[in-house]
Amino acid sequence: MRIAMIGSGYVGLVSGACFSDFGHVVACVDKMPVKIEALQRGEIPIFEPGLQALVASNAQAGRLSFSTDLKSAVAGADAVFIAVGTPSRRGDGFADLSYVYQAAREIALALDGYTVIVTKSTVPVGTGDEVERIIRETRPDADFAVASNPEFLREGAAIADFKRPDRILLGTDDERAIEVLKEVYRPLYLNQAPILVTSRRTAELTKYAANAFLATKITFINEMADLCEQVGANVQEVARGIGLDNRIGGKFLHAGPGYGGSCFPKDTLALMKTAQEYDAPLRLVETVVAVNDKRKRAMARKVITACGGSVRGKTIAVLGLTFKPNTDDMRDAPSLSVITALQDAGARVRAYDPEGTDNARLMLENVDYAGDAYGCIEGADALVVVTEWDEFRALDLDRIKQALREPVIVDLRNIYRTEDMHARGFTYVSVGRAASY
Ligand code: NAD
Repeated sequence: MRIAMIGSGYVGLVSGACFSDFGHVVACVDKMPVKIEALQRGEIPIFEPGLQALVASNAQAGRLSFSTDLKSAVAGADAVFIAVGTPSRRGDGFADLSYVYQAAREIALALDGYTVIVTKSTVPVGTGDEVERIIRETRPDADFAVASNPEFLREGAAIADFKRPDRILLGTDDERAIEVLKEVYRPLYLNQAPILVTSRRTAELTKYAANAFLATKITFINEMADLCEQVGANVQEVARGIGLDNRIGGKFLHAGPGYGGSCFPKDTLALMKTAQEYDAPLRLVETVVAVNDKRKRAMARKVITACGGSVRGKTIAVLGLTFKPNTDDMRDAPSLSVITALQDAGARVRAYDPEGTDNARLMLENVDYAGDAYGCIEGADALVVVTEWDEFRALDLDRIKQALREPVIVDLRNIYRTEDMHARGFTYVSVGRAASY
């Protein structure tokens, strides 16, 4: 199969590299020349474990190429995937579909022979109809189908998720499109990945339903954590106690500073807006969005309380900036709200992140960046763990105690054991674990 991937970001690049690894011939396109030039030199513009090697081997084998020239990538392709961004629209929270529609117009002009255009981007219900309309209007003579194939990979584990998905969702009722997409994914269903074929609208909505459900699960355990703190219970044990029930499942039950990242915040908001527009409001999702928004700044208040009620003039060391470990993605990371709130309260913030510093510099002001965790902590009045990178779990706690001016640790990811911390003489505050845990 010949595949064109429009958009070579976290999803497009991983999907393109994995498709080429299945044996397809893939052209990855992006409109940012710096990204494409870097990829052509063998440099990966994002941090994703395993991606460098996967891209290198498939590029070398001649199956994976990079270009800014959408036209020649699309002409001759059996399937054209749209994997451009769909961020929140400024002001109203609806998904901004301008990149998708622009890509559709460009693709239309380049179509040559029967082609399946597939939206991999997360798009509101009905977007496929509009993409189809745009293409038909631009190129009335074109032979094509528009399908939805939402992506469920997680950053940080993206290659494994793509190659061993829980399911593959194909939204189309065009028989030829189903045949092409089944051929594209054939290596995976040989591995018995379930393929679900639905209508286009159902596939589009299913992606949002999945993200909203996961965001709800996180928000549920976060509120439970607040209650645990008040009643002297341990949220990690509550999570285990409910998670072992197969009807509930143990995943996404880690209490923390609130969900962030490039998907959940924008997708819950967009779903909420769609539902309101169709006069079928999703009140549960609306509440999840509101609770999560408040939570991030509440985490800064937790730090201020741990510091004795004020952080004015104090230096706070922040470990971890990305929205989760093993990525450099800073979009909507909880650290952004926590740090800004601490700065608003008069604190000076020094931060360290293994991979996210370059992106953080573009999004935060007046933050000092350290080259490693101990350098970040040295002389600080308190330490806040915001992202649970593995390297933070194994830090030398005695060395931390010596480095800190005051032995205060606020652990927003529960990576340390309360009794160890108390035994070492730390003032230790975590999430949903009463002081005795
Ligand atoms: P991204 O911002 O990393 O990448 C998008 C890329 O598309 C950018 O490099 C941009 O330059 C390029 N682009 C935009 N318009 C273009 C055009 N007309 N032609 C060529 N290139 C163009 O975004 P992402 O994180 O990869 O997300 C893409 C989509 O996938 C979004 O809808 C997102 O919601 C969805 N998604 C993301 C994830 C994730 O973990 N990041 C997971 C599942 C689904």
